[in-house]
Amino acid sequence: MVQLIDSHCHLDFPQYAKDLEAVIERALKGGVYKMVSVGIDEESSRRAGELSARFPSIVYPTLGLHPHDAKRFSPSLKAHLYKLLDQLQFVAIGETGLDYAKEYSPKDLQKKVFLFQIELSLTTGLPLIVHTRDADDDTVDILKDLAGTGIKGVIHCFSGGRRLFETALDIGFYISCSGIVTFKGASKVQGLIKECPIDRLLVETDSPFLAPVPFRRKTNEPLYVRYVAEEVARLKSMDLKEVASCTTRNALALFDRLNP
Ligand SMILES: [Zn+2]
Ligand SMILES: [Zn+2]
Repeated sequence: MVQLIDSHCHLDFPQYAKDLEAVIERALKGGVYKMVSVGIDEESSRRAGELSARFPSIVYPTLGLHPHDAKRFSPSLKAHLYKLLDQLQFVAIGETGLDYAKEYSPKDLQKKVFLFQIELSLTTGLPLIVHTRDADDDTVDILKDLAGTGIKGVIHCFSGGRRLFETALDIGFYISCSGIVTFKGASKVQGLIKECPIDRLLVETDSPFLAPVPFRRKTNEPLYVRYVAEEVARLKSMDLKEVASCTTRNALALFDRLNP
């Protein structure tokens, strides 16, 4: 059986309140042996930390403030995030970044909160998880300044254009492929994933969102990362086994706290 890591999911979300044990059980049975549960604010980062205590060596938490919630940023929230970072063993900073598709928070505030988390990533040495939607130009401007800093990171749920793709690879970032790659009309993303060097590619579900074909519009879950890996294998004319072993190796290299 192939072994996979779901490099980005949200296991603390209410969609799993009733059946999280079963969701994790199904993932493990299907070979998805580790999952990175990504924090989007203080509370969800804390809950992800608690899940990692409940499912040790299976669920790994990250600490982040999503661009949607950048408007909640304040000196006191900043202090709380620092405290949380001391209390729990997080594996990454994020998700953070820029979302101009929804623009739930003003753009300049999103940038400020993104820069704060970049700083956190640099000072802690933890990798950065970047979310970017309809914000390629500003994301590129921020990322290209990071060349040579030694920062490690990933563009999660990649849906951007060529310039963002190339900038991310230039500064040593990984590209993470989600269920979007299985959607009809995703030919632009599919083309870039096809081009992405296999040693820089991760797979994720972004559960509970973005369920891949054939589960579209259902609640997504880590088990389905296999469908993402299968599509990557098809695009790159590789064996599923090979895609699984490469993306797993990459996830372990990026998130080094996933290693025993
Ligand atoms: Zn995201
Ligand atoms: Zn996410």
